Amino acid sequence: MSSKKFETAAIRSQLDRSQYKEHSSPIYLTSSFVFDDAEEMRASFAEEKERNIYSRFSNPSTSEFIQKICTLEGAEDGFAFASGMSAVFSTFAALLKSGDHIISARAVFGSTHSLFSKYLPKWNIDTTYFQIDELDELESLIQPNTKIIYAETPTNPGLDIVDLERLSKIAKKHQLILVIDNCFATPYLQNPIQFGADIVIHSATKLIDGQGRVMGGIAVGKKELIREIYLFSRNTGPALSPFNAWVLSKSLETLSVRLERHSDNAEKLAVYLEKHPAVNKTTYPFLDSHPKVQVAKKQMKRGGNIVTFELKGGIASGTQFLNSIQLCSLSANLGDSRTIVTHPASTTHSKLSEEDRLAVGITDGLIRVSVGLEHADDIIQDIDQALKNVKS
Ligand SMILES: *Cc1c(COP(=O)(O)O)cnc(C)c1O
Repeated sequence: MSSKKFETAAIRSQLDRSQYKEHSSPIYLTSSFVFDDAEEMRASFAEEKERNIYSRFSNPSTSEFIQKICTLEGAEDGFAFASGMSAVFSTFAALLKSGDHIISARAVFGSTHSLFSKYLPKWNIDTTYFQIDELDELESLIQPNTKIIYAETPTNPGLDIVDLERLSKIAKKHQLILVIDNCFATPYLQNPIQFGADIVIHSATKLIDGQGRVMGGIAVGKKELIREIYLFSRNTGPALSPFNAWVLSKSLETLSVRLERHSDNAEKLAVYLEKHPAVNKTTYPFLDSHPKVQVAKKQMKRGGNIVTFELKGGIASGTQFLNSIQLCSLSANLGDSRTIVTHPASTTHSKLSEEDRLAVGITDGLIRVSVGLEHADDIIQDIDQALKNVKS
């Protein structure tokens, strides 16, 4: 990891200044780069010379973003993608071949779940799920063709915590690649590589952008694994646009400040909700009532910005609650400066059977709040007035 503190590295890791001596890195909106002569072009394509050729392969704005995330995650190398999902898919596509096997936590992002159930089987890649609470049983799921262990922590929307240290011990013992989607924690709150992960993935669309503007994704980790991901991506074209990379690199300058405030606000909301009579259960990784609070505090700096709670009245009270919200937004994104409330049972997870929903902790009355950067009093006031309109 960089010798500089997180806050400093997030601001001061930038491109070398151009002839104009700009203070803040410019955007390199160019699809290709020029060569002085045939020999330079040959040497560049032969990778004897490290330089930009074409923006599907690399671009200075994208490289700055990748370099910063590598520094902040303690990773050797990385590649940036057009979205979080292209980072997830390209990682699997680059590292696996037909006949390989994945072991994944059951509670993963919806589209990642679709990759496992619908698309990867087309190439004869199967996935077995493990329960986060039963890591002892994970080893019995390992097959001779298992290549990757995959997990998110905290999970969405259950906010369950996976013990990264224990998971990586299992992965190392069986020489499996441990891939962690670190989207909910960001590199500021948690560095999975420090606990033994081989690859860390982010949807940069969420808290890394932090203001709901651009899509982006990134995979960072061991040099030889990233090399495979780079070669696959260089040929298949999921690269992040230089403009989005520039936005995301600037966003990292404020990540630490934002995550501190996000976590302050989320903690206040969680404490308020825990005492509310219309609420059955409140979940937040740093609440003493969270079953994994000790693991969360071991591997995370703060609890993050997502709080969930359960309304007593099921599906109907969930829709009533959303319809009563005035300040917060009803939106599919998370990690925005604006607080967002969602009701997974009637939206993102409505296609799952009730049994499958309950298996990943989604009860009918579950509300997910992506706590923003407005004043905590105003966020709580809006949720409070909406709760008054819910009949339980
Ligand atoms: C949003 C999200 C993704 C997918 O990212 P996109 O940028 O929307 O493609 C993957 N994993 C998690 C945990 C997410 O929240």
